[in-house]
Amino acid sequence: MRLGMRWRIALPYMTVVLVASAVLGLYLSQELHHALMESYRVRLLAEASLVRLFLTEGPAEPDHLREVAGRWSQQLDSRLTLINRDGVVLADSHFDPAAMDNHLARPEVQEALAEGAGASARFSHTTGYNMLYVALDPKDTALPIIRVSASLQEIDAGISRMQTTLMATALGASALVMALSFVLADRITRPLRRLTDRVLSYRSSSERAMKAEGYDEVQSLADAFGQMTSELGRRVDALAEERNKIALVLAHLNDGVLITDSEGVVHLINPAAVRLLDLTWQSDPIGRPLMEVVGSPSVLEAWKRCRETGQEQETMIEVPDRGAFVRLVVSPIAGSPLSGEMLLLQDLTQVRRLESVRRDFISNISHELRTPLASLKALVDTLQDGALEDPTAARNFLQRMEIEVDSLTQMVQELLELSRIESGQVPIRLAPVLVAELLAGPLEHLQPQAERARLEVAVNLVPDGLTVLADQERTRQVITNLVHNAIKFTPPGGRISVSAIRAGDEVVIAVADTGIGIPEKDLPRIFERFYKADRARASGGTGLGLAIAKHIVQAHGGRIWVKSQEGAGSTFYFTLPAA
Ligand code: ADP
Repeated sequence: MRLGMRWRIALPYMTVVLVASAVLGLYLSQELHHALMESYRVRLLAEASLVRLFLTEGPAEPDHLREVAGRWSQQLDSRLTLINRDGVVLADSHFDPAAMDNHLARPEVQEALAEGAGASARFSHTTGYNMLYVALDPKDTALPIIRVSASLQEIDAGISRMQTTLMATALGASALVMALSFVLADRITRPLRRLTDRVLSYRSSSERAMKAEGYDEVQSLADAFGQMTSELGRRVDALAEERNKIALVLAHLNDGVLITDSEGVVHLINPAAVRLLDLTWQSDPIGRPLMEVVGSPSVLEAWKRCRETGQEQETMIEVPDRGAFVRLVVSPIAGSPLSGEMLLLQDLTQVRRLESVRRDFISNISHELRTPLASLKALVDTLQDGALEDPTAARNFLQRMEIEVDSLTQMVQELLELSRIESGQVPIRLAPVLVAELLAGPLEHLQPQAERARLEVAVNLVPDGLTVLADQERTRQVITNLVHNAIKFTPPGGRISVSAIRAGDEVVIAVADTGIGIPEKDLPRIFERFYKADRARASGGTGLGLAIAKHIVQAHGGRIWVKSQEGAGSTFYFTLPAA
C-alpha cells in the first residue's frame, strides 16, 4: 500500500510522540511511586516512634494498649496494630485482635525483628485494598512491636491521575502533530500536485511555461521543469521540422523509395514507389510484410537476394501493360535507427522512349539520306562513264542531280527547322491576326500547283472576321504543309476545302481533301518525323512536314489531329487560341 505524503510525514512524528510519552509515563509513574512510598514510609515510621512514646506512659496491659491504639489511630488517621514478639496481635485500631491470625510471618514484622524497623506494601485481604505497613521494634521486651499502616489508595489514585493526564497530553500532542503534518504536507505537495497536473497536461497544451508557487525548492524544480519542457519542445519542433522536410522530399521525389526492416516489414514507402510498384489497389502498406504488399516476382527476388547476400542488387523491371521500365536497386542498410533493406525505384520509361526515338531517328535519317545519295552516286558514275561526252545527256543528268541536291537541301533545312522549334530556339511571337489573312498567303502561293493537279480549292470561314492569337509566319507554315500534303495526296479532279470555325476560346482550322486517305495503322504515327505511309513513299516527301506542323501548333498551346479513311480522303484539324 502506498501512503500519501501527509501520512508519511505524520506517522513518524506521531510514533515519536507516543513512544516518548509512554516511556516518560512509565518512568514518571515509577519515580513518583517510589518517592511517595518513601515519604509515606518515613511518615508512618515517625508515627510509630510517637506511639512508642505513649506506650511507655502506661502499663503494658491489654486495656492500655487498646486505648492507645484507638486514640492514636484517630489522631494520626492510620491503622495501628500492636503485636508481641510471638506474632500474636495484642491490639488493633480497626479490628478485633482475637479474630486476627498470627502476624509473625508478615514481612514488615520479620524485618523489624531483624533490623529494628521494617516496611512492606501489599494488598490487604482484611481491608480490601493496597496498604503500606511499617513496623517498629522498640527493642524493649516490655513493649510490643508497633505497626502503623495506611491505605495506598491515594497514591495509586494520584499515580493513575498522572498517567491519565500524561496519556491525554500524548494523544493531544499526536493529534496536533497529525494536524500540523497534514497542513505541512498539503503545503509541500500542493505545488507538486500542480506541477504534476502541468506535466500531465503538457502533451495537450501548446503553452509550455510552467509556474509553481510555494517553497523555493519546489519553485526551482518547477523552473527546471519549465526549462526542460521548453527545451524538449524546441527539440521536438526541430525534429518534426526535419521529419517534415524529409517527408516532403520523399513525397515529391520522382524516384520510389521503400524501406523494409529486419523482419521484412514495410517501414516506409513514398507515393512514387506506390505508383511504380502498382500498389494503388492496396490499403496502407506500412507495417505489412513486403511479401504481402508487392506482387512482382522480380522485385521480391532481388530483395531476397539482397537479404541473403547482404549485397546491393540491381535489376530492371518491365511492365508491358503500361510500357513501363523501372530500374530497381536494393541496398542493405545497417545500423541505427533501422536495419533492413532500401528499395530504390527509378522510372526509366521516358529515358527508354527517348533512346528508341533517337535510335529510330538515326536509322530514319540514314535511310532518307541513302536514297538521294545513291542516285547522285549513280548519276556521277554515269557521267564519268562517258555521258559527259554527250552534252544533251550530260545536261539532263545535271538537272536530275540538281533535283536530288535540292531535295537533300530541303530535308536538311526542314530538319534544322524542326530541331530549332523543338529546342525552343524559334521564338513564337503571338499577335492577333485574321484567319482570312493567315490563309490567303499559302493558298495564293499553292494555287498554281493545285491548278496543275486539276484540284478545286474552297475556303469557308465561320464567322467571317475570325481572329486568332498566333505567330503569323509559323502558322502560315503549318497551313502550307497541310495544303501541300492535300495537293500531293489527292488525285486530279479532287477537291480541297479549308475552313475555320470558332469553338469556345479556340479557333479550329481544318484542311480536308478527297484524296487517297491514310491507312488506319498509320494514323497514330503520321506526326512522327520521317514517318510516311507506304503509298506515299513515291511522293518524294521527307516525312518531316507534319512533325514540324505539330511542334508549331503545340508551341501555340494548340492541338493537331487527323481524321481519315483509306480511299475516302483526309481531314487535318488544328486549334489556335482565339484573340
Ligand atoms: P511528307 O513530306 O512525306 O508529306 P508529312 O510529314 O507531311 O511528310 O506527311 C507524313 C505522311 O502522312 C505522308 O507521307 C503521307 O503518308 C501521310 N499524309 C499526310 N497528309 C496526307 C493527306 N492529305 N492524305 C493522305 N496521306 C497524307
